[in-house]
Amino acid sequence: MDKKFDLDKIEFCKEPPIQEPDRQYYYMKKCRESVKAQEAALGRPLTACVQNFGCQMNARDSEKLRGILSEIGYQIIDTEEADFVIYNTCTVRENANLKVYGHLGTLGHRKRKNPHMLIGLCGCMMQEPQVVEKLKTSYRFVDLIFGTHNLYKFAELLCLAMDSDRTIIDIWKDTDKIVEDLPCQRKYAFKSGVNIMFGCNNFCSYCIVPYVRGRERSRNPEDIVNEIERLAKDGVVEVMLLGQNVNSYGKNLETPITFAELLRRVEQIDGIERIRFMTSHPKDLSDELIEVMKDSKKICPHMHLPLQSGSSRLLKIMNRKYTKEQYLTLVEKLRAAVPDISLTTDIIVGFPGETEEDFQETLDVVRQARYDSAFTFIYSKRTGTPAAAMENQVPEDVVKDRFDRLLELVQQISKEMSSRLEGQTVPVLVEEVNTHDKGYMTGRLANNLLVHFPGDEALLGKIVKVHLAQGKGFYYMGEMVQ
Ligand code: SF4
Repeated sequence: MDKKFDLDKIEFCKEPPIQEPDRQYYYMKKCRESVKAQEAALGRPLTACVQNFGCQMNARDSEKLRGILSEIGYQIIDTEEADFVIYNTCTVRENANLKVYGHLGTLGHRKRKNPHMLIGLCGCMMQEPQVVEKLKTSYRFVDLIFGTHNLYKFAELLCLAMDSDRTIIDIWKDTDKIVEDLPCQRKYAFKSGVNIMFGCNNFCSYCIVPYVRGRERSRNPEDIVNEIERLAKDGVVEVMLLGQNVNSYGKNLETPITFAELLRRVEQIDGIERIRFMTSHPKDLSDELIEVMKDSKKICPHMHLPLQSGSSRLLKIMNRKYTKEQYLTLVEKLRAAVPDISLTTDIIVGFPGETEEDFQETLDVVRQARYDSAFTFIYSKRTGTPAAAMENQVPEDVVKDRFDRLLELVQQISKEMSSRLEGQTVPVLVEEVNTHDKGYMTGRLANNLLVHFPGDEALLGKIVKVHLAQGKGFYYMGEMVQ
């Protein structure tokens, strides 16, 4: 666990510091005292469970929640039979919200049997005012609710919830604050996500993210480089640079730098062998970035480049700010600069007003771009977005038919593309013991595809050479080469 403060050195006699994150370490210590008292009363350690929903940025935030809870003295467990359960929610699609309400019902029952239990909710869904109103009326047993902008204040808010019998709610509309350097319990010892920016200014007409994650704000490059240097010292060999739109990194900095320049600086860090990043917006994908990828020894040959639709008419209504032709030109440039690049994407089917012609344009881009894989989504109306108010929502059966046709084409091409390295021997980061066969390990190629090969846990976190014996569609079977 990487952290910078020692709670034992914090004194309670003084007022809590104003400065962040010092102030949060003060409250972590306060919470720790309460946890110790409860443990003495219950005669057992207290446990906590963090359930993560949604994207990699949420997953990184959940590692911080686990780090803070562990610092406070909770034992982190994976099941919801815990003394404290918190959901880090997502709201990118309607069904994400429904899932959380379903889970909450079960938790409510458990709390009735364990009145000392605490329940918390945070993340994007909490930034929707109608959600918080519903929680206040129908889920009064929830102890703590906070949003995306003040996640760093978790310890302070938990302290309030521990001493109160009413629901603590603290939702901020927006913020210009960035507070990192909090305890963090990473899922993997050898790789880590690193937030480089927050928020999004693009306002794609179907997307709720700008309303729940706020305006774009980039971290100072020095802070990012310092964090990655600390991670490298802590045994991390691969970093994933995270942001809703990493390509517009640095625009709001006092001394603006480009994302490409940040990558050049991260490339210099000893101990880091692989650099990944997500998510890129095509409208900000610069020639400079493609040049840096071409010359880099560490940036992985994988680009997730959301298309959403292949129809320039629809892209305009989606407010995506690029055309079909511009997107395909980017694909050409990427393939010319990084020949073995793996391209993946996001595609929405059934956006309001989508015609069969529009859909045919999408299929045409899929045929030309030849993605290794694609996340395909059925359009989901998000209250508060311009698209939600648009007429001519596409009938469900038409959407279903198009979705099936798209999936078929994507999978056919992905099968062809994903086995193009068959017979080669490539470097692989060994990530976990194979879930189906304990005699096998699962590793990730630089282009993000997986390979399963005979091996044992001693290989975890190492980059080893693996011969790709057979392509199996979305993964390979292989043997390690000494
Ligand atoms: S770029 Fe568009 S789709 Fe992506 S988070 Fe921003 S508004 Fe949403």
